[in-house]
Amino acid sequence: MDELNWYYPEKIQEVPDFLKEGCIPHGGGTYLLKSGLLRREAKSVRGIIDISGIKELKDFKEINGRIELGAGLTYGETIVHVGRLLPGSIIVKALSGAASNALRNRITLGGSIASFPPWSDLAGPLVALDADVYFITKDSAAIEMISTEGFLRMPADQKRVFITKVAFKSIPYRSWYYRDVRTRFDYPKFTISITVSGVGGSFEPVVRIVITGTKGKYLRESAIEESIVEILRRKKNNGEKLFSGSLLKGLIDTKLTARFQRKMETSGEYLQHAVSVELRRGLEEVMRSKM
Ligand SMILES: Cc1cc2nc3c(=O)[nH]c(=O)nc-3n(C[C@H](O)[C@H](O)[C@H](O)COP(=O)(O)OP(=O)(O)OC[C@H]3O[C@@H](n4cnc5c(N)ncnc54)[C@H](O)[C@@H]3O)c2cc1C
Repeated sequence: MDELNWYYPEKIQEVPDFLKEGCIPHGGGTYLLKSGLLRREAKSVRGIIDISGIKELKDFKEINGRIELGAGLTYGETIVHVGRLLPGSIIVKALSGAASNALRNRITLGGSIASFPPWSDLAGPLVALDADVYFITKDSAAIEMISTEGFLRMPADQKRVFITKVAFKSIPYRSWYYRDVRTRFDYPKFTISITVSGVGGSFEPVVRIVITGTKGKYLRESAIEESIVEILRRKKNNGEKLFSGSLLKGLIDTKLTARFQRKMETSGEYLQHAVSVELRRGLEEVMRSKM
């Protein structure tokens, strides 16, 4: 393998020229090293863009009712920034348990969104928060925006963009996060993210349930979301007393769509059962919790 050149831009505007030449970004480097991508695609990779010198990518802002997180922020930095503003945020709950301390200090938001491994602790919360992904392309430094779901569904060849930030509404919501692991430092076999907003207030209730690690990598349990919204809308209550364990079990037994492949000595059927048990537990807890 030929030696790869490394480039150190200081401004986002410099990135398109490097992309045009066939260079790829380096966030935390944890996926680049582990995936063997540099070995597999060595011929097509013309160089590495080290993004750590681009200050803008480390920005954290609360602006116009939205939270903006630069793509160069590590999981660790994200936990600190978001945790100060919204300690109960699902992002903080999810990233605090991801990987190890050392890895959380390297893994970046941009690198995680771009690589989206099936064990991601970031993808579920971003979809649950209806976050937007901002990016530029090799053809232009003009910033474009797409929903996280839109980004995750993009064909791989169109995903060769440079992510600059993610942003989501800074509104109060209840949340619950679960990662299914055997030991704390393990890749989750699946994760569940639940966010509920607008309960008991004058706004319309919004419920989002996202499961990752499924066949097809992730999905939203839209039918269960809609049933819960319907109950909340009819009763205009705070939700706590409306959702008994048996009602939730019935909803999940009839409407759950998550299906799994066999993983780490565990059958797909077992994972489906495990997800239904944890989802019921999560919904019970989130309805009892405070904003
Ligand atoms: C042992 C181990 C355990 C792990 N456990 C977990 C876990 O439990 N939960 C979890 O969520 N993650 C976990 N991870 C991290 C996960 O697997 C990925 O390695 C990580 O998300 C990649 O982020 P990065 O910043 O290191 O990306 P990099 O490795 O730098 O890059 C990954 C890909 O994204 C591209 N890229 C980088 N930055 C950008 C950008 N701004 N725009 C566009 N493309 C970009 C790169 O060119 C590359 O193709 C673990 C990693 C390891 C090594």
